[in-house]
Amino acid sequence: MRVLLLGGTAEARELARLLVEAGIDVTSSLAGRVARPRLPVGPVRIGGFGGVSGLRTALTSYDVVVDATHPFARGMSANAVEACVADSVPLLRLERPGWEPDPAWHRVATHAEAAVRAAELGGRPFLTVGRQELSRFVPDLGDLPVLARVVDAPDLDLPAPWRLLTSRGPYTLDGDLAVMREHGTDVLVTKDSGGTYTWPKLQAAAVLGAPVVVVSRPEPDPRALVVSAVGPALDWVLRRSRAR
Ligand code: NAP
Repeated sequence: MRVLLLGGTAEARELARLLVEAGIDVTSSLAGRVARPRLPVGPVRIGGFGGVSGLRTALTSYDVVVDATHPFARGMSANAVEACVADSVPLLRLERPGWEPDPAWHRVATHAEAAVRAAELGGRPFLTVGRQELSRFVPDLGDLPVLARVVDAPDLDLPAPWRLLTSRGPYTLDGDLAVMREHGTDVLVTKDSGGTYTWPKLQAAAVLGAPVVVVSRPEPDPRALVVSAVGPALDWVLRRSRAR
């Protein structure tokens, strides 16, 4: 059985490792967004498929798909549902749970709303929303001494008062406290990525008494079968493999 594993997350790498160990023919797919991706074990393909039609063509080489992309990579997930439904290819969505909500957080539905709220709450925002979302914050926060942390530098020309910090998790509480103290962060902006890699900044904000703006996840496609951990995803693939 040939498995296409849509990746770019720690969970996808973990699942790839377990599937390879189990002797399953799995190919991991990465978008190719970051300069030096962490590569999973086993065969890897890199780059977009070319929308739903390109993905449907690619699916002729696979029997099942596991979509383990990031909770905010909704374009890829939507394409996976469309292509798999069209060609009756079994699809599983592996999505890590969101963070346990803190009632003190300022929850917003979009990055545009997050920008407005951050401007209301502080004068020295720490943006940890990813490179692709930064432009949405420029209209509201362009005049402020923003610290923006990203894996790779964006193409965008940043406003003069902004400072870019390129780094990649996992992070630590001590490290994030040092970054936020040095910057003088008085509001943290993040999206609800979940997981442990980027959780310490939320602890650091709590220690420093800085308000937190959290962008909620977009709704998942109701047609997708969803699991929230690697174990059940592995079981799903193994069950299908044995049934063949
Ligand atoms: P996206 O907006 O949902 O996807 C845009 C397009 O990128 C897709 O239509 C597809 O191009 C291509 N693509 C995305 N993921 C792919 C994959 N795993 N394999 C092959 N092509 C892929 O995705 P995104 O938010 O830019 O995220 C890109 C990748 O980074 C994802 O794999 C995701 O797991 C990872 N990531 C994202 C975030 C985040 O915050 N968004 C954070 C950490 C990691 P075509 O239409 O040409 O097929």
